[in-house]
Amino acid sequence: MATTATPPYEGGCLCGAVRYRVTAVPELVCHCHCTLCRRAAGAPVVTWATVASEGFEIIRGAPASYSWSPRTKREFCGRCGSQITFRFMGRDTVDFTVATLDRPEVLEPDCHVWNAAHLPWMRMDDGLPRHEGEFDPD
Ligand SMILES: [Zn+2]
Ligand SMILES: [Zn+2]
Repeated sequence: MATTATPPYEGGCLCGAVRYRVTAVPELVCHCHCTLCRRAAGAPVVTWATVASEGFEIIRGAPASYSWSPRTKREFCGRCGSQITFRFMGRDTVDFTVATLDRPEVLEPDCHVWNAAHLPWMRMDDGLPRHEGEFDPD
């Protein structure tokens, strides 16, 4: 993962009720084209950074959450609706939305995931690797 600044990074929702701090360098940054992220964010693609759980903390407010499936949880501001995190049960990592960082430009994406669902009019000719499903490091 390429970064132009060392942690901590801070971010938060649109209204400011929820704020978070990232104290570790994320392992991976990916554009997700899946239909669940699309609906959750109301956007054609959502860019996520994956960081060790101990490297992420909510420092203001308490996000609301929604589980589309028993194994996943999305956290968002219950007041303004900004999507903040995605957690996969049983993993000791948390994904957070790069676009909610105060300085989103410091984390540069590595790849695309769920490319099979990508919208044809959403052109992102960035040359990054495209995984048809979930990123699989193996
Ligand atoms: Zn908010
Ligand atoms: Zn997704």
